[in-house]
Amino acid sequence: PLVGVVRESAEGERRVALVPKVVSSLVGKGVRVVVEAGAGLGALIPDELYVDAGAEIGDPWSADVVVKVAPPSESEVGKLASGTTLIGFLAPRNADTVIPALAAAGVQAFAVEAIPRISRAQVMDALSSQANVAGYKAVLLAASESTRFFPMLTTAAGTVKPATVLVLGVGVAGLQALATAKRLGARPTGYDVRPEVADQVRSVGAQWLDLGIDAAGEGGYARELTEDERAQQQAALEKAIATFDVVITTALVPGRPAPRLVTAAAASAMKPGSVIVDLAGETGGNCELTEPGRTVVKNDVTICSPLNLPATMPEHASELYSKNVSALLELMLDESGAFAPDFSDEVLEKSCVTRNVPTTEKADA
Ligand code: NAD
Repeated sequence: PLVGVVRESAEGERRVALVPKVVSSLVGKGVRVVVEAGAGLGALIPDELYVDAGAEIGDPWSADVVVKVAPPSESEVGKLASGTTLIGFLAPRNADTVIPALAAAGVQAFAVEAIPRISRAQVMDALSSQANVAGYKAVLLAASESTRFFPMLTTAAGTVKPATVLVLGVGVAGLQALATAKRLGARPTGYDVRPEVADQVRSVGAQWLDLGIDAAGEGGYARELTEDERAQQQAALEKAIATFDVVITTALVPGRPAPRLVTAAAASAMKPGSVIVDLAGETGGNCELTEPGRTVVKNDVTICSPLNLPATMPEHASELYSKNVSALLELMLDESGAFAPDFSDEVLEKSCVTRNVPTTEKADA
């Protein structure tokens, strides 16, 4: 097949769906690749490197398979011919307009977010690869906004205690945040509603905060809490949060608004100079004082809600994402290298959001 790599148009999006190293490996497998001029520039990859890897520079939109990072804009959907396959982040669970538009245009779209979290599909798991970037960067942001050191310092001018960091929601991003805080010398603590996470938290050298709530849901994700559980959690967290220098929140429930874990009262009870980094801004935020996309200071506590942190590390984020995309793409090739997705494969069946199933049903799933 001919695979098209487009130049991302979303504001601040610096990633690219395929990097030259991965292009070269696909070309070696008989895949032809056409790259839009400047597609890699956000990630500091010049067109020449794509040419060296065996791609042509040209119009990617009329390729058989178009690969992207961000969901397509309305005008980008307009550039896709009926019968084209699209692979990228499509935000299927919050799909408002994108997926119906793709369906109406006759595009067969695969949403990387909908790839099942099973062992065989780990190499394609773009949510995980990008969450690692976000978790790491969230800690660096917290450290740079903090008025305090992260590590313990013993100096002639006195001793500084290590910072205490609480991570609320320990999925992939949260675990990376705990590990990164630990590497910077802070004392990290993790909390989640899935008790199975406790061992993972301890394995990166962090403490586990146990509030006695078990809300493990389907597919390894959390379920939404009941009213009672929520009240119990808020009261317990309110007390805990005040004792930390930094709180990093990453809690998400698929298809639902982000759970409110840090109330305004809890944030205000933190010591002046403390920092909250809320990674759930895109779905409303985990902190009541969060303003998505902004950094605000309230009662001398800094609250940051960066959006799309992976785009701020475009080189490695693109490298990892490329690997995910090419693995998914290769799953769609038959033995002769022809493009022939087999929908009896669970990974393709679940990640395909505009084919075989009425769009609305799939979008609501
Ligand atoms: P996510 O981004 O959906 O959510 C982040 C975390 O928030 C989760 O750990 C969730 O339990 C937690 N959370 C939700 N509501 C909460 C609340 N009210 N209070 C506290 N915490 C709350 O998670 P993710 O990083 O996408 O990971 C989801 C699952 O997928 C995990 O079980 C993870 O281990 C699993 N996973 C599996 C594979 C695999 O291939 N086997 C790969 C990656 C991730």
